[in-house]
Amino acid sequence: MVAVGVDLEHSRRVVDLAHRFPQVFAGVGHYPTETPDPDIAALRELAADERVVAIGEVGLDFVDTNSPSREVQQARFDQLLTLAVELDLPVSIHNRGAPAEVAGAIAAHPGLRGAMHYFALEWDWAERFLGLGFYLSFAGLVTRPSRNALREVVKQCPPDRILLETDSPYGQAHKRMGEPNRPAYLLDTARLVAELRGISLEELADIERANALALFRKMT
Ligand SMILES: [Zn+2]
Repeated sequence: MVAVGVDLEHSRRVVDLAHRFPQVFAGVGHYPTETPDPDIAALRELAADERVVAIGEVGLDFVDTNSPSREVQQARFDQLLTLAVELDLPVSIHNRGAPAEVAGAIAAHPGLRGAMHYFALEWDWAERFLGLGFYLSFAGLVTRPSRNALREVVKQCPPDRILLETDSPYGQAHKRMGEPNRPAYLLDTARLVAELRGISLEELADIERANALALFRKMT
């Protein structure tokens, strides 16, 4: 699994976690709603660690009203994507209300690889991000009754581009609303995704392992 940081302190903590548990790798990043600017030099230094496999979480949040301005977020996002290309690390991208701007930013950084984290959009956007070479990462949202369009995306996503995540402590599966999410509950999502795609949980696990190793190359 990949534990991601939302600021420098949490990025340092996930690197520490990744050193303590062989099952855990780290992503270092800067969440778009953070008040201070990202410390790119410190993130670059941290990303050199052997256990850091991604730059994330990074992205754009045009919904949260406490976020910095769109211009500030976009300038920071550009810096963080530049760092990812420089270090040849994949990115984990947060997108809330800014799919066109995120797609534009990805396209502006040739060579950038990564995953659309907590993917929640319909097929036309899925196609756009797949076309940019990105993976789609699905969370407990797919288990919620109202999310038929998202389940269609799960069915149509090419097998070599599908990833799963919890986004814990958020992103609960439908049956766990009201309790904090945790990595072990990935199975709630995995069971449904396997069912939607007509494969066994074991087959899905093989696909997930292969996709993770293909995207997060430092895991190998
Ligand atoms: Zn997010």
